[in-house]
Amino acid sequence: RPSPSPARSRPAPDNGGSADSCRVRVAIRLRPKNSEDLAYGSDFDSCVELQPESKRLKLKKNNWICESYKFDEVFSENASQKRVYEVVAKPVVESVLEGYNGTVMAYGQTGTGKTYTVGRLGKDDPSERGIMVRALEHILSSMSFETDRVAISYLQLYLESVQDLLDPEKTNIPIVEDAKTGEISLPGASIVEIKDLEHVFHLLQIGEANRHAANTKMNTESSRSHAILIIHLQRSSRIKEENSSLSNDTHDIFPDDLPLVLKSKLLIVDLAGSERIDKSGSEGHMIEEAKFINLSLTSLGKCINALAENSPHIPTRDSKLTRILRDSFGGTARTSLVVTIGPSSRHYSETSSTIMFGQRAMKVVNTIKLKEE
Ligand code: ADP
Repeated sequence: RPSPSPARSRPAPDNGGSADSCRVRVAIRLRPKNSEDLAYGSDFDSCVELQPESKRLKLKKNNWICESYKFDEVFSENASQKRVYEVVAKPVVESVLEGYNGTVMAYGQTGTGKTYTVGRLGKDDPSERGIMVRALEHILSSMSFETDRVAISYLQLYLESVQDLLDPEKTNIPIVEDAKTGEISLPGASIVEIKDLEHVFHLLQIGEANRHAANTKMNTESSRSHAILIIHLQRSSRIKEENSSLSNDTHDIFPDDLPLVLKSKLLIVDLAGSERIDKSGSEGHMIEEAKFINLSLTSLGKCINALAENSPHIPTRDSKLTRILRDSFGGTARTSLVVTIGPSSRHYSETSSTIMFGQRAMKVVNTIKLKEE
């Protein structure tokens, strides 16, 4: 029996075939106005205007339109959690079910809806469920319990240290890259097999509570750390051996079909707030924090730029965040990014730089696919 294969490296997922269909998909989601937005000035002044039909967003300053940007999707404040899942995450989950790795990330300023989009549990109200719960629901309903297995790891990355959100005793978890396959693993991190949705809620709740407790202990806020859910999927199936690349001996044992075990993983990442941290006047761990958050988000930005430029060197080793993402980002892995913004003109400059990050990510293409065309 062949040993489990790592996630497929070729061919690329069937995603339409064009180079454009292989790049990182980027959606913008606008958070509804909140009381703080409304309290700022008598007439609420929004710095964005959405045109969902043309998938464009216009950025306004003092009511003048500065620039118009096109994305793969533009979600207004009325967009449902279901629609966001279907557009942003469902295609990635489908390719993970086919044996490819994938990543879904939320990027944006603190308070703009990253955790709402990605991590909202919605235990009692299914319409509220975020991407993590919906992805696991989707996987559980698509797999066969006789042959397939799904498990999760839930981690927090803070100050370049990986902590286990399912077992707070486990800190400083190493990130190891297999020299042959390039596969990334986190030895020592909990990997818990999932059987049903109740179990999913239970584990995600434990993760949330541990995140809160860890941040209270470290005297920081969760907006300063990255939360990373890793969904490990192993599927067994009997497939027809078409190209007969295996030796004849094997052929004798398995006349015309072979058991195939596919391993893939999906990373769902709630990134730290994208806002610049004011270093002036901050001391000790605040300065450390600013340095490390900037390091991982800057390094993610550099990898995105390098992928967009089709560079042969993607600098994923510069930060722990990009090292964890290394085998699930670019290449044949499908990646979606949801960029969250608030409507208030008070945060014009943060909103503008968040949008620019999303625009750079739009250019990332699957380099293998491009070379084949
Ligand atoms: P972040 O993770 O980016 O810091 P949160 O997800 O915590 O932001 O969102 C901040 C607040 O706004 C929360 O109270 C959240 O429930 C609310 N919120 C964010 N996005 C939406 C949305 N699309 N619809 C309704 N409420 C939202």
